[in-house]
Amino acid sequence: MCGIFAISGDSPKAGASVLKGLKKLEYRGYDSWGVCVRESKDGTVFIDKEIGKISTVRRNFPDGCEAIGHSRWATHGGVTKANAHPHQVGKVTLVHNGIFENYITHKKTLKTYKFLSETDTEVIAAMIDNFLHQGSTPDQAIRKAATQIEGRFAILVMVEGISGIYAARRGSPLIVGRGSNQTFVASDIPAFLEQTNVVNYLDDNEMVYVCGKNAQFSDLRTGDPVQKRNIEVPWKIEEAEKGEWSHFMIKEIFEQKETIARVLKQEDEKLLQAMKLLQESNGAYFIACGTAHKAAMAAEYFFADISGRKINVVPASEMPSFERFVNPKTAIIAVSQSGETADVLEILERSKKKGAKIIGLTNVLSSSIARMAHVHLSINAGPEKAVASTKAATAQMALLFLLAFTDVNKINIGRQILWATASSINDMLNPRYESWIRSVAERIVDHPNLFIIGRKSLYPMALESAIKIQEVSYIHAQGFAAGELKHGPIALIEKGTPCIVLGDDQETVSNATELKSRGAKIIGVSATKQDVFDEWLRVPDCNGAQAIASIIPVQILAYHLALLKGLDPDMPRNLAKSVTVK
Ligand code: GLU
Repeated sequence: MCGIFAISGDSPKAGASVLKGLKKLEYRGYDSWGVCVRESKDGTVFIDKEIGKISTVRRNFPDGCEAIGHSRWATHGGVTKANAHPHQVGKVTLVHNGIFENYITHKKTLKTYKFLSETDTEVIAAMIDNFLHQGSTPDQAIRKAATQIEGRFAILVMVEGISGIYAARRGSPLIVGRGSNQTFVASDIPAFLEQTNVVNYLDDNEMVYVCGKNAQFSDLRTGDPVQKRNIEVPWKIEEAEKGEWSHFMIKEIFEQKETIARVLKQEDEKLLQAMKLLQESNGAYFIACGTAHKAAMAAEYFFADISGRKINVVPASEMPSFERFVNPKTAIIAVSQSGETADVLEILERSKKKGAKIIGLTNVLSSSIARMAHVHLSINAGPEKAVASTKAATAQMALLFLLAFTDVNKINIGRQILWATASSINDMLNPRYESWIRSVAERIVDHPNLFIIGRKSLYPMALESAIKIQEVSYIHAQGFAAGELKHGPIALIEKGTPCIVLGDDQETVSNATELKSRGAKIIGVSATKQDVFDEWLRVPDCNGAQAIASIIPVQILAYHLALLKGLDPDMPRNLAKSVTVK
């Protein structure tokens, strides 16, 4: 959460460039923003910050070749201008992604400082400034402060009178971009992808000092130099831009025409390596959060049906209750789009110490989860920038579907089914299909409640449908296992309540009939049309991979419900992409 971005180079327009890059990170947090420029004329720092989204902001900055910026997702302190980053204390100006858990203890000891915000971040700036006063050099001061911070952080620091920018991380992502005459440091690659695709990944407990085109990496604990490899990332600028599309969400939904097929390029060897870890284990867990957790729940059904293997699915935040069962014979499959999800990372860190084997499934190559996994499988969906996950979720499910076939030595059969699924989805996703779904959205948008049911792997898709609709349209949506309906939820049905029914198997159609008998308006999502449906969103018959296709029309429905309510589906309130705080 939160986007941070820094430039050190030879162009005097660093402020404008940081603002531009931050706009590309806004999906990570968008309640306030701020930019700090070191002015060329006298080296003083100029800070501009404001509450609200950054996307429409236009500003003139003074000339300066170095700047840092932040797009915030507030954790400590409300959404106010005073709490917006950067925070300046004495000689130090700083932006921060993460949570400084023990900040109150330290705030109390820094008695000579007058704090202007309620944030944990300002305390980090004061600690660094305090160490500078005691005679430390900037990198010593940052290292000393870092040893005292409990929690996760990525920080960018400017020190008055000293050119260059310092950056350090523990638990939150930071990537260095190597331009020809300038260096970038950002929470994510799209911030600087227009300038360079050559990067160095900063690992936990590392820091970097960037000045112009030079970058010096060191260990955050010891100060020892660290060597880094230059890595070329395969992402294209168009993938990280909206282009002709009105929103990232709809662009990414339509990209599922290709992303599911792209999963098929996964090397057999990687799948077999992952499977070996699973087969050698005597207990396996899927650990994930939010939409990735629903993808993992669908995969629980895939494995049960295809390979007869039981895998426990636990939301990462609930896993602490079950960690006592983790041992060297445990396999953990961590599913995360960003590969930086804090709850997942914490479980993995502790499980790895206990000797468990980690299989990481992420979209972001070289993310923290990718790097800590014994085997990493890339879902290869390209940058996903809308907060509501769409193409990453279906790519996760497709990859896990393939893995289940790998378990029974039938990768090619899995590939054939997915190939057929991908090409039917390619046919299905066209403007006519979208406009039909929009017309359905128009007919249900005024209802305050919406329910979704499904059975087997479509049950997790009912839960995922509810997440999609809630997060972008703010309509109260709830998903249920179709068979659970009579055990409570059916009491909620009133005349005209829209109910989405995923699937056309006999039992689910009976459940739809029960709903309709209580006045519900039935929206069927299935391969065949049923009499009980008032509206029908056709999906192809996918031979076991039905969950992958069935969520797509609901993604489109959620998108149009948001638009009809005048909301921005890319930036829903209170949410942010890549949940790097607990
Ligand atoms: N904890 C800091 C704050 O609330 C940073 C939050 C973030 O990662 O955006 O200001």
